[in-house]
Amino acid sequence: MACTDHSKMTALPPTDFNATLSARDLAAIWHPCTQMRDHAAADGAGVPMIPIVRGEGAWLIDANGKRYLDAISSWWTNLFGHANPRIAAAVKDQLGHLEHVIFAGFTHEPAIQLAEELLRIAPPGLARVFYADNGSSAVEVALKMSFHYWRNLGSPGKTRFIALTGSYHGETLGALSVTDVPLYRATYAPLLLDPIFIAAPDCYERESGESWQTHSLRKLADMRAALERHAANVCAVIVEPLVQCAGGMRMYHPAYLTGLRALCDEFGVHLIADEIAVGFGRTGTLFACEQAAITPDFLCLSKGLTGGFMPLSAVLTTTSVYDVFYAEYTSGKAFLHSHSYTGNPLACRAALATLAIFRDEPVLERNRVLATRLAERLAPLADHPNVAEVRQTGMIAAVELVRDKFPRAEFPAAERRGLRVYRHGLDHGVLLRPLGNVVYFMPPYVITPEEIERMVDVAMAGIESAVA
Ligand code: PMP
Repeated sequence: MACTDHSKMTALPPTDFNATLSARDLAAIWHPCTQMRDHAAADGAGVPMIPIVRGEGAWLIDANGKRYLDAISSWWTNLFGHANPRIAAAVKDQLGHLEHVIFAGFTHEPAIQLAEELLRIAPPGLARVFYADNGSSAVEVALKMSFHYWRNLGSPGKTRFIALTGSYHGETLGALSVTDVPLYRATYAPLLLDPIFIAAPDCYERESGESWQTHSLRKLADMRAALERHAANVCAVIVEPLVQCAGGMRMYHPAYLTGLRALCDEFGVHLIADEIAVGFGRTGTLFACEQAAITPDFLCLSKGLTGGFMPLSAVLTTTSVYDVFYAEYTSGKAFLHSHSYTGNPLACRAALATLAIFRDEPVLERNRVLATRLAERLAPLADHPNVAEVRQTGMIAAVELVRDKFPRAEFPAAERRGLRVYRHGLDHGVLLRPLGNVVYFMPPYVITPEEIERMVDVAMAGIESAVA
């Protein structure tokens, strides 16, 4: 912990704690989703590396004591604030009992209780929980389980998946295969599976005057056509319910999911709902699927599952899927997938404490008030000449920046306008991390109305300077 014990670093002037840690970091670490060269010039065009030593509610505090409002919940993981005392206490308590145990042949009460609790709150019909330790791994599990289900049933010809354009499901090779964000996928395309991509119901693309519902329902025709042609070879359709997050916070109407569930049933393919980003209240309901009154065959959860404390993921599935794997060992039907940290007890305790907060506090009701406030504060941006759309689903809001509004013309990606917003945010104590030209807000649920004001004010000023 020497890195946070500033009293021992007396040789340095107080303002240099950030610089010292940043220099040590950049000499030793290779960061995710980062062109490391961007950090080389911390002045001028460069991007600073910011060492965080403490978190408190919606705030992150760097080594020099500067505070940043975490408008993106640290990659959409945090729900109830950094260093949330209730979740921290649960993890601390578990540390005194059991940090980890092999999860094959052995079990523990936190994992059992968490599975029972997840099945209680999840859409009806889900009856089994398979644990993994991050979002991408959960997607790998769902893809493999679906394929293996059909194989066990004697349909080995089902080898392909259907995904939506603009989708994001993770970075491991299977999850990346069903991802359609060129920035992440294009380089590795030669290594990937060959899914069928179908036009998303993305309402940013709707005709002028068309409602979200009409547009989303219209897009089901493309899915039907794909299933008519390919269903015999398709294991599953995988979607991000209601909001395609990493693809630019593109949103659609729940009616699409209801229709998609019916199509999957009609054509005999599974439906995988990747609620890794949108689960646990982000879209206004505990799970996004609830708004469409559907139960997927596989529900992938991670991120907010532990309140943002620990890596953990879970794939929930049905008894009818489970039963197809349940056989004599020698039949080779078992699902032999495993990760060393499957069902980690510390992570399960963090998750149980997170779910206890949902149980004990009116989280979704409070979020409705916060979401309304966010919508009111963002509304004026809709008229901005460089804003094509302001959209929102629950606690996720996004502002789409464009060079021209009518007709829409994008800013070239190479201009990195979003990066200008990011830097402006950091200068003014707000962590915004636009996705290309989409500035978005996905704050922890403990954000206050005053903090929403501040977050939006800083973003608006950042947008002004970025589009200039
Ligand atoms: N699916 C979705 C919808 C996601 O948003 C993400 C992460 N952004 C993932 C999967 C992958 O999760 P992880 O980063 O934990 O591997």
